[in-house]
Amino acid sequence: MSETVTQDKETRGFQSEVKQLLHLMIHSLYSNKEIFLRELISNASDASDKLRFQALSNADLYQGDADLGVKLTFDAEAKTLTVSDNGIGMSRDDVIEHLGTIAKSGTAEFFSNLSDDQSKDSQLIGQFGVGFYSAFIVADSVTVRTRAAGTNPEDAVQWHSSGEGEYTIESIKKESRGTDIVLHMREEGEEFLSEWRLRDVIGKYSDHIGIPVSIWTKEKDEEGNEKEEGKWEQINKAQALWTRNKSDIGEEEYKEFYKHVSHDFADPLVWSHNKVEGKNDYTSLLYIPAKAPWDMMNRDHKSGLKLYVQRVFIMDDAEQFMPTYLRFVRGLIDSNDLPLNVSREILQDNKVTQALRNACTKRVLTMLERIAKNDEEKYLSFWKEFGQVLKEGPAEDFSNKEKIGGLMRFASTEVDSSDQTVSLASYVERMKEEQDKIFYLTADSYAAAKNSPHLEQFKAKGIEVILMFDRMDEWLMNYLTEFDGKSFQSITKAGLDLSKFEDEAEKEKHKETEEEFKSVVERTKTYLGDRVKEVRTTFKLANTPAVVVTDDFEMGTQMAKLLEAAGQDVPEVKYIFEINPEHELVKRMADEADEEAFGRWVEVLLGQAMLSERGAMEDPAQFLGAINTLLTKV
Ligand code: ADP
Repeated sequence: MSETVTQDKETRGFQSEVKQLLHLMIHSLYSNKEIFLRELISNASDASDKLRFQALSNADLYQGDADLGVKLTFDAEAKTLTVSDNGIGMSRDDVIEHLGTIAKSGTAEFFSNLSDDQSKDSQLIGQFGVGFYSAFIVADSVTVRTRAAGTNPEDAVQWHSSGEGEYTIESIKKESRGTDIVLHMREEGEEFLSEWRLRDVIGKYSDHIGIPVSIWTKEKDEEGNEKEEGKWEQINKAQALWTRNKSDIGEEEYKEFYKHVSHDFADPLVWSHNKVEGKNDYTSLLYIPAKAPWDMMNRDHKSGLKLYVQRVFIMDDAEQFMPTYLRFVRGLIDSNDLPLNVSREILQDNKVTQALRNACTKRVLTMLERIAKNDEEKYLSFWKEFGQVLKEGPAEDFSNKEKIGGLMRFASTEVDSSDQTVSLASYVERMKEEQDKIFYLTADSYAAAKNSPHLEQFKAKGIEVILMFDRMDEWLMNYLTEFDGKSFQSITKAGLDLSKFEDEAEKEKHKETEEEFKSVVERTKTYLGDRVKEVRTTFKLANTPAVVVTDDFEMGTQMAKLLEAAGQDVPEVKYIFEINPEHELVKRMADEADEEAFGRWVEVLLGQAMLSERGAMEDPAQFLGAINTLLTKV
């Protein structure tokens, strides 16, 4: 290594997010400082993968001239540790882009959401994946010397920074291809300037990496003193984890490998490792994380799958192999059927891709079904993190609708809690004998759902109703129309029919009352004109005088609100006004002979119903005027 500084040194500032990241990282991760090595070795291994991949189309880059690997050396006196690779390397522009900014989308948003609670933030930063910058946990300055594959020794660059807002970059001469990362250790990092400690950490983090990781070891004489001569000693197994037999791989190894592929700091929730031969020949190793990344709900969130073809790394973010609603899955696919020169375009409409995507989707769904069956607590923690994403499933993946429905969890009138713990299967099991539909209610919040007047008869008759209050639920219900052969029925829609649950006497009585109320309904209709779609009597209420409902095929209130909030033009929702003839106030209204006074009653009842349905009314002043006039008459 004979690098000499030559020319054009320049000082540049970090992107502001990098500064924040460095600050936060040094403060929150030093209790776990050894992870810097995992990150640097992981990057070095990625660099070798990329070189091998690029050499597929440009053989000049790498002709197997030297074994690809990672080498570590340290100098206890100078207090430096150097991690070297002979991978793809970086050009000047690459260095500026990769080591001066954070490319991940949503980074600024991530930082703006941080709290003042550093212990909580350290969890977050783990999910964020700190990578290269983790060097600053142990080093007070870092020097990177790198030469991109296919360039000349004079084209190499050196980057240097003490992690405080600025870095320098200059051209240097570097004889060998690849990257050396030199860490100038702070006191907290000195423990890593030891052969024993390095062996320990490399053993822990790098066994599953496909290339050798070696350290320079010195031989010892009889008295145990180090001799001058030394040799490279390979520390890890250097066999890519997924190529090994399942039975030979321990849990800890799977977990470590997960951290390598996902850049997550926490253990995964579950994983599934499969070798498939036959029509399609591939290996998949799919992980479900324990925690959702902060940008999970962003549908542009990068897919977490790496694609390998015949063990050669091809690409990150191979989104073609997983549907969007499973975008939280991490891991890899190694196919023996795809060509090595496969591109994203080729993957797009390719039979192999399609088959692997279907197989991987099934595998993930089955993995989830298995946890749901065997470990409820674990499953509910999954649902809490990723349920919102899975709810996109029925709209995207028609063929697995039933499976996805089976994986959903909701709140319900059966359990007195806003936690989403009720499965549709358990709902169906509890259904009444005469019940053939799954009843549900969508509302703004759990409280609004739980206290909805629409539930009154259901409560009285002991019929369970699924309570939904996530923003997307009403949209979801456009796609989730059936489960276990039973269709869904919103209880705030006009098609609700509870006559099945009434006995003959009740039916008779309702018929009579309806007859008696015909004229009241007519008067109400005349008064309201086209402000409502229809007026009718209802027997589903108990303590509430009136409600509004929408037609089965019309947009519901929550959906309309969702679209409005997204700034879309939404056609006005036309409500059906339902009055409860058994309620005291409605009886008073019916008795009112004076049309003007009658109209005031209608205003009050409709206003209440709208308020309860939409959380707002069109003309509050008119409503209050009507109420006040009525009150003065009491
Ligand atoms: P990540 O690895 O998550 O992308 P890092 O901060 O660790 O984030 O690295 C940023 C980028 O810098 C990498 O994506 C890669 O392009 C480049 N890089 C880092 N280390 C190396 C290396 N040893 N060789 C080549 N490129 C590297």
